Amino acid sequence: MQIDGTALIRLAVLKTIRREGPISRVELARINRLGGATISQVTGELLQRGMIIEERRSPEGKGRPRILLSIDPSAAVVLGGSLGPRGELEISLVDLGGNLLLRDVHAMGHHRTVASLTTSIAEQLRCFIDAHEVERSVIASVAIALPASIENPGGVVHWLPTMEAGSTPVRGMLSRALELPVTIENDIDCLARAEHWFGRKPSGADFTVLMVGLTIGSAEYVDGIPRSGANGLSSEFGHVKTVWGEEARRCFCGGRGCLTAYASTAGMILSSAPAPDLFSTMPSDIERPFRDLADAAAAGNENARSAIRLAGTYLGRALANLINARDPGLVLVRYTDPDMPALLGQSIMAALDENSLPTVRERTEVDIGFVDDGWRWQGAAALALEQMYLGEGAGRAGGSNDR
Ligand SMILES: [Zn+2]
Repeated sequence: MQIDGTALIRLAVLKTIRREGPISRVELARINRLGGATISQVTGELLQRGMIIEERRSPEGKGRPRILLSIDPSAAVVLGGSLGPRGELEISLVDLGGNLLLRDVHAMGHHRTVASLTTSIAEQLRCFIDAHEVERSVIASVAIALPASIENPGGVVHWLPTMEAGSTPVRGMLSRALELPVTIENDIDCLARAEHWFGRKPSGADFTVLMVGLTIGSAEYVDGIPRSGANGLSSEFGHVKTVWGEEARRCFCGGRGCLTAYASTAGMILSSAPAPDLFSTMPSDIERPFRDLADAAAAGNENARSAIRLAGTYLGRALANLINARDPGLVLVRYTDPDMPALLGQSIMAALDENSLPTVRERTEVDIGFVDDGWRWQGAAALALEQMYLGEGAGRAGGSNDR
């Protein structure tokens, strides 16, 4: 996706003010490696739009007062929605500084088509706005994260597992239904945003994140925003081919030998006991057997432990390929189960060391950890704030509302 340079500078400056503020213009220029004139121009525009505020601080002793800049959290709000693994929709309202104001979770029921799901999402968002009496004119931006293959900037969903195949213009449908600016995005790209905006591990502007749960996803951050492919599609790292031949396991996607079928929690189940392939399995059917496997491993069962370690080896090999191909600098591997990092961290690292080129490996940091469900609201909120900061939002502090 092409974003113009001025918008990227504005995004970088606002993120710095949010993270470091109150901050002086001189510090802003230094951190973002920008000239004084550019900083004056950008901050002048942001002051005019009401997104930031100035504060004068008198120095101790003599001297001119310093002028410091902060985000004005009350300037606008953004609305985020994230569709979770059990089909639930988590809706959150966040102020311009990224502080959570409200959060609700709604069961979405069963939907066969993406169009019917979209109608239901619009309905839930409208109910949320009405129930909490949110002033519509202060909602600058709406962002929805979906576990789907999405083409942007059009916001067309091409594939959402468990739903009928076809392409659905979800962004357009939601924009029309809500009469607000809407962005939709693959949920793993939103996990990357959650790490970048809210994460404990400082990620900088360039990193790659892998999420491993029932399925596997990845997202790549470049220059402070997620990178999408030439067609605007997000990465499908979970479906890189890992095993070949007749015996290769089938994946949820219908293909054979995908990384998901070997290294996800679903892959661990298939390694621990004979089971049907994933193509004929609903992701939700894996949860109970996975819990049993994780409990057995925690209790010291060697069969369970080796199935989990094997998943780590597959992931480490695939990760080595990714590192060799892309030189990502920092890779965050995030498991949705808190016990997994300790159980398979070593097998990931061993496979990684064995299969990556030493020159790239020694310059790559790999951080393996657990991610709790908080990333869902954080990721959707960060996407909405990103759109707002880029100047794509509407509302009191925003720009155009003509889409
Ligand atoms: Zn697959």
